[in-house]
Amino acid sequence: MPLAASGDYIGCLAITEPDVGSDVSGVKTLAALSGQHYIMNGTKTWISNGTIADAAFVLATMDKTLGALGMSFFLVERNQSPFEARELHKLGLRCFPTSELSFSDCKVPRRTCLTPAPVTSGPWLSSMSRGPWWAPCAPASLKQPSTHP
Ligand SMILES: Cc1cc2nc3c(=O)[nH]c(=O)nc-3n(C[C@H](O)[C@H](O)[C@H](O)COP(=O)(O)OP(=O)(O)OC[C@H]3O[C@@H](n4cnc5c(N)ncnc54)[C@H](O)[C@@H]3O)c2cc1C
Repeated sequence: MPLAASGDYIGCLAITEPDVGSDVSGVKTLAALSGQHYIMNGTKTWISNGTIADAAFVLATMDKTLGALGMSFFLVERNQSPFEARELHKLGLRCFPTSELSFSDCKVPRRTCLTPAPVTSGPWLSSMSRGPWWAPCAPASLKQPSTHP
Protein backbone atom coordinates (compact mmCIF):
# COMPACT_ATOMS: atom_id res chain seq x y z
CA MET A 1 0.00 0.00 0.00
CA PRO A 2 2.74 2.58 0.77
CA LEU A 3 4.25 1.95 -2.66
CA ALA A 4 0.85 2.39 -4.28
CA ALA A 5 0.16 5.54 -2.28
CA SER A 6 3.48 7.07 -3.35
CA GLY A 7 2.87 6.20 -6.98
CA ASP A 8 5.83 3.84 -7.12
CA TYR A 9 3.53 0.85 -7.68
CA ILE A 10 0.89 1.44 -10.34
CA GLY A 11 -2.32 -0.53 -10.66
CA CYS A 12 -5.01 -0.67 -13.29
CA LEU A 13 -8.55 -1.98 -13.43
CA ALA A 14 -9.27 -4.24 -16.39
CA ILE A 15 -12.94 -4.92 -17.01
CA THR A 16 -13.87 -3.57 -20.46
CA GLU A 17 -13.29 -5.82 -23.49
CA PRO A 18 -13.50 -5.22 -27.23
CA ASP A 19 -17.08 -6.60 -27.24
CA VAL A 20 -18.04 -5.84 -23.63
CA GLY A 21 -18.68 -2.36 -22.22
CA SER A 22 -21.63 -1.44 -20.02
CA ASP A 23 -22.92 -4.99 -19.84
CA VAL A 24 -20.10 -6.46 -17.77
CA SER A 25 -21.95 -9.75 -17.38
CA GLY A 26 -20.75 -10.52 -20.89
CA VAL A 27 -17.05 -10.58 -19.98
CA LYS A 28 -15.30 -13.26 -22.03
CA THR A 29 -11.78 -13.31 -20.59
CA LEU A 30 -11.45 -16.83 -19.26
CA ALA A 31 -9.61 -17.99 -16.14
CA ALA A 32 -9.38 -21.78 -16.15
CA LEU A 33 -8.25 -23.48 -12.97
CA SER A 34 -5.25 -25.79 -13.44
CA GLY A 35 -3.73 -27.06 -10.20
CA GLN A 36 -2.52 -24.11 -8.14
CA HIS A 37 -2.89 -21.67 -11.04
CA TYR A 38 -5.48 -20.16 -13.31
CA ILE A 39 -4.68 -19.98 -17.01
CA MET A 40 -6.00 -16.65 -18.27
CA ASN A 41 -6.88 -15.91 -21.89
CA GLY A 42 -8.56 -12.79 -23.24
CA THR A 43 -8.28 -9.15 -24.22
CA LYS A 44 -9.10 -6.01 -22.24
CA THR A 45 -9.38 -2.60 -23.84
CA TRP A 46 -9.59 1.07 -22.82
CA ILE A 47 -7.55 0.25 -19.73
CA SER A 48 -6.21 3.34 -17.98
CA ASN A 49 -2.55 3.01 -17.00
CA GLY A 50 -2.31 -0.47 -18.53
CA THR A 51 1.08 0.05 -20.18
CA ILE A 52 2.69 1.38 -17.00
CA ALA A 53 0.89 -0.85 -14.50
CA ASP A 54 2.73 -3.18 -12.14
CA ALA A 55 -0.50 -5.07 -11.52
CA ALA A 56 -3.96 -5.34 -13.03
CA PHE A 57 -7.24 -6.11 -11.32
CA VAL A 58 -8.80 -8.27 -14.00
CA LEU A 59 -12.43 -9.33 -14.19
CA ALA A 60 -12.60 -12.78 -15.74
CA THR A 61 -15.06 -15.60 -15.98
CA MET A 62 -14.34 -19.03 -14.61
CA ASP A 63 -17.51 -20.50 -16.10
CA LYS A 64 -19.12 -18.72 -19.05
CA THR A 65 -22.36 -20.68 -18.68
CA LEU A 66 -23.00 -18.99 -15.30
CA GLY A 67 -22.83 -15.39 -16.57
CA ALA A 68 -22.05 -12.95 -13.72
CA LEU A 69 -22.26 -15.84 -11.26
CA GLY A 70 -19.13 -17.38 -12.71
CA MET A 71 -16.92 -14.28 -12.53
CA SER A 72 -14.17 -13.14 -10.24
CA PHE A 73 -11.51 -10.47 -9.94
CA PHE A 74 -7.87 -11.51 -10.12
CA LEU A 75 -4.85 -9.51 -9.01
CA VAL A 76 -2.44 -10.13 -11.88
CA GLU A 77 1.08 -8.96 -11.03
CA ARG A 78 3.03 -8.26 -14.16
CA ASN A 79 6.44 -9.49 -13.03
CA GLN A 80 4.92 -12.78 -11.85
CA SER A 81 2.34 -13.28 -14.61
CA PRO A 82 3.53 -11.33 -17.66
CA PHE A 83 0.89 -9.94 -19.99
CA GLU A 84 1.15 -7.73 -23.04
CA ALA A 85 0.05 -4.11 -23.09
CA ARG A 86 -0.07 -1.72 -26.02
CA GLU A 87 -0.97 1.93 -25.88
CA LEU A 88 -4.07 3.21 -27.66
CA HIS A 89 -3.98 6.65 -29.24
CA LYS A 90 -6.52 9.11 -27.92
CA LEU A 91 -7.16 12.82 -28.49
CA GLY A 92 -7.47 13.97 -24.88
CA LEU A 93 -6.83 12.84 -21.29
CA ARG A 94 -3.11 12.70 -21.97
CA CYS A 95 -2.08 12.62 -18.32
CA PHE A 96 -2.36 8.82 -18.38
CA PRO A 97 -2.01 6.17 -21.07
CA THR A 98 -4.96 4.11 -22.26
CA SER A 99 -4.18 0.56 -23.27
CA GLU A 100 -5.15 -2.80 -24.62
CA LEU A 101 -4.07 -5.76 -22.50
CA SER A 102 -3.61 -9.25 -23.91
CA PHE A 103 -3.58 -12.37 -21.77
CA SER A 104 -2.36 -15.39 -23.66
CA ASP A 105 -2.12 -18.52 -21.51
CA CYS A 106 -1.13 -16.18 -18.69
CA LYS A 107 -0.39 -18.25 -15.57
CA VAL A 108 -1.97 -16.61 -12.53
CA PRO A 109 -1.48 -18.05 -9.00
CA ARG A 110 -4.69 -19.41 -7.49
CA ARG A 111 -4.35 -17.20 -4.41
CA THR A 112 -4.75 -14.09 -6.57
CA CYS A 113 -8.41 -14.90 -7.16
CA LEU A 114 -9.88 -12.08 -5.04
CA THR A 115 -13.50 -13.12 -4.99
CA PRO A 116 -13.76 -16.90 -4.92
CA ALA A 117 -17.45 -16.51 -4.03
CA PRO A 118 -19.66 -15.52 -6.97
CA VAL A 119 -19.80 -11.78 -7.68
CA THR A 120 -23.53 -11.49 -8.24
CA SER A 121 -24.25 -8.07 -6.81
CA GLY A 122 -22.90 -5.42 -4.51
CA PRO A 123 -21.16 -2.10 -4.86
CA TRP A 124 -18.70 -3.05 -7.60
CA LEU A 125 -21.40 -4.21 -9.97
CA SER A 126 -23.81 -1.33 -9.36
CA SER A 127 -21.03 1.27 -9.51
CA MET A 128 -20.20 0.18 -13.04
CA SER A 129 -23.11 2.18 -14.40
CA ARG A 130 -22.53 5.24 -12.23
CA GLY A 131 -19.68 6.96 -13.92
CA PRO A 132 -15.92 7.10 -14.24
CA TRP A 133 -14.85 4.43 -11.78
CA TRP A 134 -11.53 4.36 -13.60
CA ALA A 135 -10.83 7.91 -12.40
CA PRO A 136 -8.86 6.84 -9.29
CA CYS A 137 -6.22 5.48 -11.62
CA ALA A 138 -5.47 8.95 -12.90
CA PRO A 139 -3.84 10.60 -9.86
CA ALA A 140 -1.12 7.95 -9.66
CA SER A 141 -0.28 8.52 -13.27
CA LEU A 142 0.31 12.22 -12.69
CA LYS A 143 3.56 11.24 -11.01
CA GLN A 144 4.76 9.69 -14.24
CA PRO A 145 6.63 11.83 -16.74
CA SER A 146 4.32 12.36 -19.69
CA THR A 147 5.33 10.63 -22.90
CA HIS A 148 2.58 12.39 -24.78
CA PRO A 149 3.17 15.54 -26.82
C1 LIG B 1 -10.74 7.46 -21.16
C2 LIG B 1 -11.31 6.13 -20.82
C3 LIG B 1 -10.72 5.37 -19.83
C4 LIG B 1 -11.23 4.11 -19.52
N1 LIG B 1 -10.62 3.37 -18.55
C5 LIG B 1 -11.04 2.11 -18.30
C6 LIG B 1 -10.35 1.29 -17.34
O1 LIG B 1 -9.39 1.70 -16.70
N2 LIG B 1 -10.79 0.02 -17.19
C7 LIG B 1 -11.86 -0.49 -17.87
O2 LIG B 1 -12.20 -1.66 -17.66
N3 LIG B 1 -12.54 0.26 -18.77
C8 LIG B 1 -12.16 1.55 -19.00
N4 LIG B 1 -12.83 2.33 -19.91
C9 LIG B 1 -13.95 1.75 -20.65
C10 LIG B 1 -15.27 2.28 -20.15
O3 LIG B 1 -15.53 1.85 -18.85
C11 LIG B 1 -16.32 1.81 -21.14
O4 LIG B 1 -16.21 2.66 -22.25
C12 LIG B 1 -17.70 1.82 -20.55
O5 LIG B 1 -17.84 0.71 -19.68
C13 LIG B 1 -18.80 1.79 -21.61
O6 LIG B 1 -18.60 0.75 -22.50
P1 LIG B 1 -18.68 1.03 -24.10
O7 LIG B 1 -17.74 2.15 -24.43
O8 LIG B 1 -18.49 -0.29 -24.78
O9 LIG B 1 -20.13 1.58 -24.36
P2 LIG B 1 -21.45 0.75 -24.52
O10 LIG B 1 -21.60 -0.25 -23.42
O11 LIG B 1 -21.53 0.24 -25.94
O12 LIG B 1 -22.52 1.89 -24.33
C14 LIG B 1 -22.72 2.92 -25.33
C15 LIG B 1 -23.78 3.88 -24.83
O13 LIG B 1 -25.00 3.19 -24.61
C16 LIG B 1 -25.44 3.39 -23.26
N5 LIG B 1 -26.02 2.16 -22.78
C17 LIG B 1 -25.44 0.95 -22.71
N6 LIG B 1 -26.27 0.03 -22.21
C18 LIG B 1 -27.44 0.68 -21.96
C19 LIG B 1 -28.70 0.27 -21.44
N7 LIG B 1 -28.93 -0.99 -21.07
N8 LIG B 1 -29.66 1.21 -21.31
C20 LIG B 1 -29.42 2.49 -21.67
N9 LIG B 1 -28.26 2.93 -22.17
C21 LIG B 1 -27.27 2.04 -22.31
C22 LIG B 1 -24.21 3.79 -22.46
O14 LIG B 1 -24.53 4.58 -21.33
C23 LIG B 1 -23.41 4.56 -23.49
O15 LIG B 1 -23.84 5.91 -23.53
C24 LIG B 1 -12.36 3.60 -20.20
C25 LIG B 1 -12.98 4.40 -21.19
C26 LIG B 1 -12.46 5.64 -21.49
C27 LIG B 1 -13.14 6.46 -22.55
